[in-house]
Amino acid sequence: YARPLDGRVAVVTGASSGIGEAAAEHLAWLGAKVAVVARREGRLEDLVARIEKNGGSAMEIAADVTDAARVQAAADAVDEELGAADLLFNNAGVMLPAPIEERRTDQWQHQIDLNITGLMNTIGAFVSQLIRAAGARGVADLINTASIAAHNIFPNFAVYSGTKAFVAQMSRDLRVELGPKRVRVAAISPGTVGTELQSHVTDAGAREWLDASKQTMEWLTPQDIAQVVGFIAALPPRANLQEVIVMPTGQP
Ligand code: NDP
Repeated sequence: YARPLDGRVAVVTGASSGIGEAAAEHLAWLGAKVAVVARREGRLEDLVARIEKNGGSAMEIAADVTDAARVQAAADAVDEELGAADLLFNNAGVMLPAPIEERRTDQWQHQIDLNITGLMNTIGAFVSQLIRAAGARGVADLINTASIAAHNIFPNFAVYSGTKAFVAQMSRDLRVELGPKRVRVAAISPGTVGTELQSHVTDAGAREWLDASKQTMEWLTPQDIAQVVGFIAALPPRANLQEVIVMPTGQP
């Protein structure tokens, strides 16, 4: 039987855990060949083995997306081994909230380097493939992971929220630029999803605030977001779901 993403070539960044890992599995399940990108090679190998065991097709590429040359090499490898990518789930990111007066400039820079520069490096490396694939196959998708932090106000999240506001606005602008070339651009803005994201938070106050939120709501799962990625990519070529906000039912 035909699956919704048969014949498509997907690339997922941040695929070694959380939302990216779940999305890679789901896109493969829907029929896409999937290239999975992150730094932890062992985790990617396990993921590829799992996808293949379930009848899917995948390849791992260990790469740090903040390294533009490395991402370009990854893009060249995808083109050579799978053909031009027609779906990029641009998802790697990090969240490090802390009061601004603590001046954690290392953490500010880390978030900007990954959430903005890494995201743009990946777009730069793959955009020509997306356009080429769209010309050949009728449509391609660039799906960026933003956040509810791009829309709502969370005290002590200013730098993270700023990076995600960049992702949301840049996605809107790029949709208008790439739409005429049949490349759809979407942003997904999730509320809280239980992943490794929270484990990187060093600020005690922010950790407590995140932990306490579990008392008042059930966090989303990575699979909830993976379903949305699959839904966006499987829409008819004329329809571009521009932005989706997915909240835990109990999150204000
Ligand atoms: P995880 O921490 O589980 O996943 C982050 C992924 O990014 C990992 O696969 C990590 O792999 C990868 N990564 C980190 N640094 C780099 C790098 N330099 N180069 C390549 N890959 C890198 O978190 P989530 O799944 O939650 O996060 C995915 C996205 O979702 C992020 O953009 C996040 O901001 C966003 N988001 C998450 C929400 C949540 O509540 N969880 C809510 C809203 C948005 P590795 O370390 O192996 O490189």
